[in-house]
Amino acid sequence: MVLRWTGSCLCGRCRYEFDNDPARAGYCHCSMCRRATGGPFAVLVQLSLSDFRWTGMGPSAYRSSPIATRGFCPSCGTPLYLQYDDDPFIRITLGSLDQPEKIHPNSHYGIEGRLDWVDCGAGLPEEETKERF
Ligand SMILES: [Zn+2]
Ligand SMILES: [Zn+2]
Repeated sequence: MVLRWTGSCLCGRCRYEFDNDPARAGYCHCSMCRRATGGPFAVLVQLSLSDFRWTGMGPSAYRSSPIATRGFCPSCGTPLYLQYDDDPFIRITLGSLDQPEKIHPNSHYGIEGRLDWVDCGAGLPEEETKERF
């Protein structure tokens, strides 16, 4: 049986769903994710774009770098996704899922930006950011 995953922004205007379990989920400690989420790091869930669809009104998009766009709700501001150009995957914010407790992060990215008091996810694989702007 395929579980249907759902999620939304805080106000409920932007809703989404996807059918297959996400390929992976990870912490991102880069400074761009920190600003985009307003938190000490982002937790992003990667899934195939072909599995993913908006069911409410779509989000607004912001070009956050020469290679990526970030989506957010234009009404309540919830950060919803990060998408690299020409990538078959979309990375959605774990906190926007209706059942975030069902996913556990399995890696760290952008560790050069990790705040020194962040001590979650010990022992997971770590990687530095490849692109710098
Ligand atoms: Zn909203
Ligand atoms: Zn990041």
